Amino acid sequence: MLPTLTTLQRRKPHLYNLSWLCPQCNSFPETLDHLWTCPYILPEFSPLNTFKTLLLALRSNYLDKFLSVSSLIPLPDSFADEFVALDCWNCDPLSFSCLRLARGLIPISLTEFLGTYFSSFTIWSILDTPLHDFHFDLYVQIWLCRSIFFHHWELAQGITKIMKLSALEPSSILHPSSNIPPDISTPSLATVSLDSWVSWVSSSIIRGGSWISHLDFWRRLTVQPLLRISFW
Ligand SMILES: [Zn+2]
Repeated sequence: MLPTLTTLQRRKPHLYNLSWLCPQCNSFPETLDHLWTCPYILPEFSPLNTFKTLLLALRSNYLDKFLSVSSLIPLPDSFADEFVALDCWNCDPLSFSCLRLARGLIPISLTEFLGTYFSSFTIWSILDTPLHDFHFDLYVQIWLCRSIFFHHWELAQGITKIMKLSALEPSSILHPSSNIPPDISTPSLATVSLDSWVSWVSSSIIRGGSWISHLDFWRRLTVQPLLRISFW
């Protein structure tokens, strides 16, 4: 399970204040579903826009494949229209079955519709690989970007890796003994220097500050080069 903020708040409430909302939009709890639906205001970094783009690409990919394989009965002229109208592709607003796809679960509405025309073997052999690729793209384009942001956001809250790994009681963590070295665990991702604006931005977000104010934060992260370093 991905360690979203709500998960971290449950596991380590002494580190993650229960009142904190999604660090990107500061409007909703950061649950698993919210990862894909976060209405982050900058279009190029909006998880919601990325999710929609990937989902519609998945739909087109599936449709092409089902139109090109042999079916149990002749496909009606309305097949493509009915396929694209299934609720699992409904992005405005994101439907429940849409979010099931994001979790790797195949919506029943999809298999029931396809079951009218194709064998189970055909259905599963077509659904499998593109769904795997869809998750891979979600991971890289949404989760990894969010994690880079989150890492810097955590540091700005004073939450270090040592604190996260520690099994000590909150009171011990808040007052570490002097022989504990400073946080030397900054991962290779953090090639970006931590300027004072990072903490300003984060405190601003927590206080409900403008999203626009951390435009520069995102730009300085230079997400694409970091992704290449970290992922490959
Ligand atoms: Zn959000």
